[in-house]
Amino acid sequence: MKTTTGSKARQDAGGLIMTVMERMAVSDKVLPDVTELLIQDHQQVNDWFEAYDRLPDPVLKAKVARQICAALKAHASAEEIILYPFARVSTGDDTLVDRSFEEHGRIKDLVAAIELADPGSAEMDDLIHRLSGEVRLHVVEEEGRLFPELREQGADLYAIGGALAARRAELMAADMGKSTPRSHGPLKPIYWRSDMHQASAEIAESLFIAGLKDAHAMERQSQEMLEQILARIEHYPQVRERVAQHLDETLMQKERLEQILEMTGSDRSMFKDMAMTAMGVMGAMASAMAEDEILKNSLASYAHENFEIASYEALIILGQEAGYTKALPLLGKSLTEERGMAMWLAEHLREVTLIFLQLRSQGVKAGR
Ligand code: FE
Ligand code: MG
Repeated sequence: MKTTTGSKARQDAGGLIMTVMERMAVSDKVLPDVTELLIQDHQQVNDWFEAYDRLPDPVLKAKVARQICAALKAHASAEEIILYPFARVSTGDDTLVDRSFEEHGRIKDLVAAIELADPGSAEMDDLIHRLSGEVRLHVVEEEGRLFPELREQGADLYAIGGALAARRAELMAADMGKSTPRSHGPLKPIYWRSDMHQASAEIAESLFIAGLKDAHAMERQSQEMLEQILARIEHYPQVRERVAQHLDETLMQKERLEQILEMTGSDRSMFKDMAMTAMGVMGAMASAMAEDEILKNSLASYAHENFEIASYEALIILGQEAGYTKALPLLGKSLTEERGMAMWLAEHLREVTLIFLQLRSQGVKAGR
């Protein structure tokens, strides 16, 4: 294999392009946290700006410039279609959202100018540098203000992330002439009240309160299960760490539910010692520790997290219908944590299964 500077640079550019295709493929399959997804985008574009300066060959420079333009167009449009309308409703911060649109306007103007500029010209270099500066400012604002505000509001960052990733991949493929965008119905984040039906607020409230009590019992069961796993797990430090983090989150989730139950006028002591009644998914899994418990725990935890996701989604809808708007950000935060845990488990199932297989092959007896 040749190792001249030219072919090294060519590999770099090839590597960059592979990366974005791989990432798009991955993003299509999972439901990413929208803020993490966009932070990765920002990082990626920043890497390309640096590569642009490093590359000696004008042909490669032009290739990277095209890549930057395509990625920024898809990124900005997806944000404008999916994220900003949601941010406007969810944070109520019009000034911030308006400014983001203005910044996108300047970025798009520069992108349009770059697409017309002569590859290899001094004008092109200048435009790329100006674009890099604009993007940097925009990133500071988004990562420093918009994303924290969205988190604070308990927005469903995973639902938005899934929609945004799908839209961005389509825009990018269409821009590179690989396909035409499919049409989608408008995204309806679960916060947006539907006016399509008439519901009784009273019935919604009684269902909401019953749901909160069930969720509280569910979280107590989560706590027990996570504590048992933590007490027994030995061979999987990564799992241990994530389980410990989710245990902390679970305690917060219980606390949030108690806070919301107080908003409804319920007495905390009423539900504190209530037993779990309506949970069929897990059974007695956490107590029946078999030899392959790490695997069984992974499967049961995955099922349990998805049950929790469904519970919080339903609670948010009922809370909205019952008029408990102050409860929604709290429930949204818990929902985001459950989605994060479910995603982590989904992503690590293969690894955990293979480590288990390896340990078993080496004759380690207990699968913990
Ligand atoms: Fe952005
Ligand atoms: Mg939970």
